Amino acid sequence: MPAPELVDTFGRFHDNLRISVTDRCNIRCFYCMPETEVEFVPRAEVLSFEEIERFARIAARLGVKKLRLTGGEPLLRKDLPVLVKKLSAIDGIEDLAMTTNGVTLASHAQALYDAGLRRINIHLDTLDRERFREITRRDDFHHVMEGIHACLRIGYGPIKINAVAVKDLVEPDIVPLARFGREHGIEVRYIEFMPLDAQGLWLRNKVLLQSEMLEMLAEGIGPLDEIPPQDVRAPATEYHFRDGIGRVGFISSVSRPFCLNCNRLRITADGKLRYCLFAIEETDVKTALRDGSSEEQIVELIRSTVARKWIGHEINTTQFVPPPRPMYSIGG
Ligand code: SF4
Repeated sequence: MPAPELVDTFGRFHDNLRISVTDRCNIRCFYCMPETEVEFVPRAEVLSFEEIERFARIAARLGVKKLRLTGGEPLLRKDLPVLVKKLSAIDGIEDLAMTTNGVTLASHAQALYDAGLRRINIHLDTLDRERFREITRRDDFHHVMEGIHACLRIGYGPIKINAVAVKDLVEPDIVPLARFGREHGIEVRYIEFMPLDAQGLWLRNKVLLQSEMLEMLAEGIGPLDEIPPQDVRAPATEYHFRDGIGRVGFISSVSRPFCLNCNRLRITADGKLRYCLFAIEETDVKTALRDGSSEEQIVELIRSTVARKWIGHEINTTQFVPPPRPMYSIGG
């Protein structure tokens, strides 16, 4: 097996690429984007499917094996099954997944499945319609539920629910979400609230911690045991319920940062390569994808980006500076 190519100065090799296919979204989660006056990337600046495919192919040549489609909301990108088909056909790509808010999922799920998509994460913070409306500023809870049930019917797997855990808001949802997951064989991933919102609303005391959620689950459902990680580089810490029914995961960037094992790169919808969700700098690859640059020149851009990667986010330090891009224009 050839030596991994994309190794940074801390010895971490990168085989996971997250591809944002649009920065547009059809809901307005308050911890991500403002309700109004959101500036989106002009369509001409968004990478075409051919450009995304070419970039992913080059990245696969350098050892990238896993791709995740993100947004904004990826399902807003027209003909997404075409891209799914292209990406799942790339040599070396072993895993293709998508993160969606599920609002239009029910009408897209079959076509995406037929194109080769199997793994899906649906962003849902609550099972309460009113709280859904409060968080997203849209009344689409029932649509998301239809999307989840469509994926269950079609046979996606694994299906995961990503729930952002904002304190003093979603405590009543922690246990019901896990119960829903146990009932349907869905893993709920609780994500600690991160300072990535467009309006700078993040406060440390608004972060519902993994330890607090674990207590709620143990009290509300039953004891849990941590599952030894299959891949230490995976961001989630996973637990299964001792009664054997269901598992939950935690993405705890604030209380248990996992940067030392990070294997992720991100490309934004407008073609900027980022070595970290919180990176201040980024590399323009769109120009190289459009100006006739050779494959080797693009390889060099990817390599140099990885070579500049920092050790990790600085949320827990006084040096922390929020990234110049909010979450919706990076993609999770
Ligand atoms: S914060 Fe950055 S370095 Fe840390 S795990 Fe996330 S992407 Fe990797």
